[in-house]
Amino acid sequence: MNRFEPNLRIPGPTSLPDAVREAGAHQMVNHRGPEFATLQNGIIERLKKFYKTGNDVLIVTAAGTGGLESAIVSFLSPGDKVLGITIGAFGDRFAKIATVYGADVTKLAFDWGKAAEIAKVREALAAGGPWKAVLMTQNETSTAVTNPIQELAAAVKTVAPDALIIVDAISGLGAVPFETDAWGLDVVVSGSQKAWMVAPGLSFVSVSPRAWEAAAVAKMPKFYFDLAAHKTSAEAGQTPWTPAVAVMFQLDAALTLMEQEGLDDIWKRHAAVGAAVRAGLTTLGFKLLADPAHASDTVTGAWIPDDLDWKAFNGKLRKLGLIVAGGQGALKGRIFRIGHLGHVTVPAILNAMAVLEQTLIELGRPVKPGAAVEAAQVAALKTLGLAQ
Ligand SMILES: *Cc1c(COP(=O)(O)O)cnc(C)c1O
Repeated sequence: MNRFEPNLRIPGPTSLPDAVREAGAHQMVNHRGPEFATLQNGIIERLKKFYKTGNDVLIVTAAGTGGLESAIVSFLSPGDKVLGITIGAFGDRFAKIATVYGADVTKLAFDWGKAAEIAKVREALAAGGPWKAVLMTQNETSTAVTNPIQELAAAVKTVAPDALIIVDAISGLGAVPFETDAWGLDVVVSGSQKAWMVAPGLSFVSVSPRAWEAAAVAKMPKFYFDLAAHKTSAEAGQTPWTPAVAVMFQLDAALTLMEQEGLDDIWKRHAAVGAAVRAGLTTLGFKLLADPAHASDTVTGAWIPDDLDWKAFNGKLRKLGLIVAGGQGALKGRIFRIGHLGHVTVPAILNAMAVLEQTLIELGRPVKPGAAVEAAQVAALKTLGLAQ
């Protein structure tokens, strides 16, 4: 292992701020006692501000996928018609969960690297139904594309107004602009290890009154992931099963850091690091996967050139302390991804660019020292309104 603190640039888990790490060392408390009730009630009220919602927000001890599963089993019944809009591996996963539990899923897939097209979504909605729910991914981490959720939700509301809008916002909520209530989203799932700068282990789910009405008649089998049980417990300051208490202490500390920075500045910082990564990688000659009109500000994917030995390249990056992510699904071995969400600053991105430059120079490729660092910094400064 490297003796230097690595620059962990994967799209979650993110590195943790010191205050968050320290909060995780808190002594255990009785999860059926008053300290826990205060902790959970406080976290839920604060999460609502980041979700921009007056709806219930529930905390489920699980990976993000568990949160997605809870959203399927709590509101749907076998045979329900569901439109699964997918632009990558996570959209596919969400549709698959619904299929596994017996929903009648129609998948509407778009080319990887592209966002969902509103006109095609309207067409698909009009061609089928009646739709019980529409599944969509806010930020498709596998392709580094952010969907226009506001427009997608508006399309659902006009063509299939009775359909529940269920959003996987795991890798974007808390980092980039998002409005649960103003956009009319019924169920929104996020996960602790992404923008929230917390260890893996918690998933958050917001639930609209309309979704609770659906829950009352939903027949999919469920036990651990029953959100109605989570609601009943939350009202008593508890969770139905033993929660990841240490991660909740971490989340409490992370929310304090996020509140100190402020949501607008968090969004600006992510816009700046996103622009910086795209500019730096492009300067190094990499082709980006995402359609520039919908490029994600929390993760960037770049094609691995045919003449670049990925194993040698990645091994050298690791030695210099830069940890990046590979591709998923059909993109395995074809792209690499740089995560820039949560605990990330422009200087951390400049460090990543410097390591990429050095690695490519070591591999004998024609790279001008400082070129990617400069391009990244200029792009960040422009985004922040500090350069022309
Ligand atoms: C990370 C992620 C998930 C899955 O989260 P796990 O915690 O790995 O289960 C789902 N959707 C998106 C968009 C993600 O980025």
